[in-house]
Amino acid sequence: MTPSSQVPAVTLRDGEQIPQLGFGVFQIPPEDTADITTRALLAGYRHVDTAKAYNNEAGVGQAIHAANLQREDVYITTKLWNSDHGYDSAKRALRTSLDQLEVEHVDLYLIHWPTPAKDNYVETWKALIELQQEGLTRSIGVSNFQQAHLERIIAETGVAPAVNQIELHPYFAQTGLRREHADHNIVTEAWSPLAQGAVLDDPAIVEIAQAVGKTPGQVVIRWHLQHGNVVFPKSVTQSRIEENIDVFDFTLTDDQMAAIDALDRGERIGPDPDTFN
Ligand code: NDP
Repeated sequence: MTPSSQVPAVTLRDGEQIPQLGFGVFQIPPEDTADITTRALLAGYRHVDTAKAYNNEAGVGQAIHAANLQREDVYITTKLWNSDHGYDSAKRALRTSLDQLEVEHVDLYLIHWPTPAKDNYVETWKALIELQQEGLTRSIGVSNFQQAHLERIIAETGVAPAVNQIELHPYFAQTGLRREHADHNIVTEAWSPLAQGAVLDDPAIVEIAQAVGKTPGQVVIRWHLQHGNVVFPKSVTQSRIEENIDVFDFTLTDDQMAAIDALDRGERIGPDPDTFN
């Protein structure tokens, strides 16, 4: 079986399907993005997570052609940046991203951060609801939304996001927010799933990796998948690009899952959404 055919699909609340494992391109330099994303697509990834703020949407679009794939073969997520909050700006922002990607629509469009000090994420969300109705994005969601932000957009528009993309890894397991997502049928997407490498030397993870004959990175990706998270590790290294999608020939036991769950320290590596504006 090819790796892409082994990646499960997760059904979103709007009925659309998303490949549970994808490829993240944060911090991949714009000039390298087409080449590295092409290599990821050739390795079997069919889901790419980019953002306006990564300044590399164009490279993602180019990679689809370079890998000889059709637009519909690849699930593309991009995100609205903090400077584009507001109803009119949000509508313009997606069109600009589509131009960069050279596609007619994306599969998932996210509000990147709630930026609560600006207090216009509700207006921004209303624009995304319309952008979905216009067919410019198949699904809409948010990123870095806390419980209060989620409850507010749902209360004021009646529309819940398909996903919330949040920092989530063994050192920051987000149990409370994951429960909130489950209550609203919102899929959890985990960003920095490997904590940018910080969890990979953890003795508990290294021990499990030795026991199952896989690498620490593969064990952590498997932990996410078995928890139902959508995940998109980033790597510019060919061997790791291949390794990170080679996670469908083993399963973690309940005890191994629990041992990784026990590593939660409630420690972020990234910004706090309540104060990041
Ligand atoms: P990750 O947790 O994916 O870690 C990436 C780092 O780990 C890189 O330094 C990479 O090195 C290394 N690495 C990757 N695979 C392995 C492996 N198998 N073994 C050892 N080291 C490995 O961090 P990211 O922050 O990049 O998060 C992933 C994606 O999440 C982003 O690309 C982006 O799409 C999304 N994201 C979203 C955010 C948001 O606010 N919504 C914020 C941050 C990320 P190397 O590349 O040198 O191989």
